[in-house]
Amino acid sequence: MSSLSDIGTIKDIMQRHGFSFSKGLGQNFLVNPSVCPRMAEMGGANAHSGVLEIGPGIGVLTAELARLAKKVVAIELDDRLIPVLGETLAEFSNIKVIHGDALKLDLAGIIRENFSDCDSVAVCANLPYYITSPIIMALLESRLPITSVTVMVQKEAADRICAPIGSRESGALTVAINYYAAPHMLFKVSAGSFMPPPKVNSAVIRMDILPEPKYDVGDEKIFFRMIRAGFSQRRKTIANSLTSGGFLTKEQAARALEKAGIAPNSRIEALDMERLALLSRMIQD
Ligand code: SAM
Repeated sequence: MSSLSDIGTIKDIMQRHGFSFSKGLGQNFLVNPSVCPRMAEMGGANAHSGVLEIGPGIGVLTAELARLAKKVVAIELDDRLIPVLGETLAEFSNIKVIHGDALKLDLAGIIRENFSDCDSVAVCANLPYYITSPIIMALLESRLPITSVTVMVQKEAADRICAPIGSRESGALTVAINYYAAPHMLFKVSAGSFMPPPKVNSAVIRMDILPEPKYDVGDEKIFFRMIRAGFSQRRKTIANSLTSGGFLTKEQAARALEKAGIAPNSRIEALDMERLALLSRMIQD
């Protein structure tokens, strides 16, 4: 099969299969030939590893992953792309395509069934942007046996995810991701690298999964409720933001902040991970 990032090849495939792009499914296919080989190499694909891909499209990244990895499993929601992938990836014997919704499938079961003969498993994907956060959080929260998650996301999302905790650029997603993983910005990708070009620029990030969380937050559910409440009103003082959505009463918030030695007029976005963890424990004390 000639290069799957070649615009002529893509148009030919689309025409023969009667395929047209679905905006609703976040379908922007990569046409910059340098992106997928870099993603596959930096995303943990090697001769002993298994790779789980979400949203293969016509298989441009899938093919690069399959060249480096022992095995690739790709989950695609759009049923129109399943016969296309059968054709474009026909030369590879180490790829399995699963038709389904990555947010609904049992990913732990898929990893268990398909990668038992691999030394490690990584996730590598050019994500559909309409579900960036839910997919990343589902991958991290379910504590899958994976070493890293390498994904293309909107540049803005990449900046937020990779921002230092305690900086104005950080948010609830930054804190949540840093609890489970160490995020790194890998490289930027311009809108013109896609067909059709999206309205935004993109970036590839890698989140290296921590063997275990670095910070003791006590009950994780309370920690994440605290983060959601705090960042939903991030410009307010922390004493006020912690009461939002009925998370804490004014008295509970004041008591926890005092015990944690945090000024009630500070803002949650200014706290580093250590102090956020301490505050979470004091809320539970
Ligand atoms: N990997 C291809 C590439 O780089 O050219 C396509 C990436 S495109 C941004 C996102 C892909 O995810 C599309 O093929 C779309 O159909 C698929 N998709 C959208 N929602 C999905 C879901 N919930 N589960 C699995 N795949 C999904």
